[in-house]
Amino acid sequence: MLTHLACSLCGKTYDWNQLLNTCSCGKPLLAQYDLSPGTLSRDALKDRENTMWRYREVLPPCEAISLGEGMTPLHHAPRLGERWYLKDEGVNPTGSFKARGMSAAVSMAKHLGVTRVAAPSAGNAAGAMSAYAAKAGMEAHVFMPRDTPKAFIVECDFLGAHVNLIDGLIHVCGAEVRKFVESSPELIFDLSTLKEPYRAEGKKTMGYEVAEQMGWDLPDVIVYPTGGGTGLVGMWKAFDEMERMGWIGSKRPKMVSVQAEGCAPIVTAYNRGERFAEEFPNAHTSASGLRVPKAIADFIMIDLIRASGGTALTVTDQEMVHATRELSSSTGVFGAPEGGATLAAAQKLRDIGFIKSTDTVVLFNTGSGLKYLEAFA
Ligand SMILES: *Cc1c(COP(=O)(O)O)cnc(C)c1O
Ligand SMILES: [Zn+2]
Repeated sequence: MLTHLACSLCGKTYDWNQLLNTCSCGKPLLAQYDLSPGTLSRDALKDRENTMWRYREVLPPCEAISLGEGMTPLHHAPRLGERWYLKDEGVNPTGSFKARGMSAAVSMAKHLGVTRVAAPSAGNAAGAMSAYAAKAGMEAHVFMPRDTPKAFIVECDFLGAHVNLIDGLIHVCGAEVRKFVESSPELIFDLSTLKEPYRAEGKKTMGYEVAEQMGWDLPDVIVYPTGGGTGLVGMWKAFDEMERMGWIGSKRPKMVSVQAEGCAPIVTAYNRGERFAEEFPNAHTSASGLRVPKAIADFIMIDLIRASGGTALTVTDQEMVHATRELSSSTGVFGAPEGGATLAAAQKLRDIGFIKSTDTVVLFNTGSGLKYLEAFA
């Protein structure tokens, strides 16, 4: 059961039954639950729906606005590596794992009386927010860079959102959202990544699913394409929650963060031994989900990568596209460039011996390749 929200940096706590963005110190708030072996049993999952809402005891207590997100396939990918697996998030509604976060966040926003939502996005978050807002009967305002691939823009428009194209990257779009929300006479709730508590709750279900799909034995290595970091932060939180419910032991996967060479704030800070990342200058990459030059959850990601014994590394756009082709042609999953990035990174880590031939490895294909035709052209 959800008990309260707590700041990820200063620890200040808040009642969850109110609309909140960040802590008064400016850092992300994370949802806290009262968990014990009696909260939910692994066996009880057998009869549950085949969506992320099967874990409802560890999700916000509200009516689910659902389009069937989550419980995506975990494919064995022996043509890539003996014990390598691909979690295919491209089959989620709107074609990416952003559906998980937006399902949770829009559901909770609705529960708390919100009728209008806004978010900056590199593409996939905008599509997902537009879809869940449409289902919930809410007004949606998306702010995307003007050069966002066309599929995302058309998708949001058809889903009924108000589309704003901005000259600048996602952090500039974020500033536009703040201005817009502050100047509006009506309440518009800002659903920016980790600037409200529940997108991370939706995305943490990837961690629950990997555990359930692997028979409660977590992999040795998880390779994840990192933008704002909700997935990394969420999965790490999920492992802790599962341990408290007695579902898994204390073993954790090595968490590997992959970023694009042209936009790598987390990798840079990690390599410098720092905890907070500077804004990455002149950010550029055709993997739109990775075009995040500044992330509010930088310290949470860097702390967990270190605690897990993982690492952080970059791949070039060329390596990404090349690896997306290899990933697609050897698994049957037409991946997003962000998914290809995880394969390129895992191969580099195998070459240097960081990943061993006996390791169980999970790569995340975070979106469908179909929305990225420009990037592949
Ligand atoms: C948003 C996005 C990412 C980055 O995910 P975070 O959890 O925000 O780090 C990676 N891949 C795709 C396809 C995305 O849309
Ligand atoms: Zn705080």
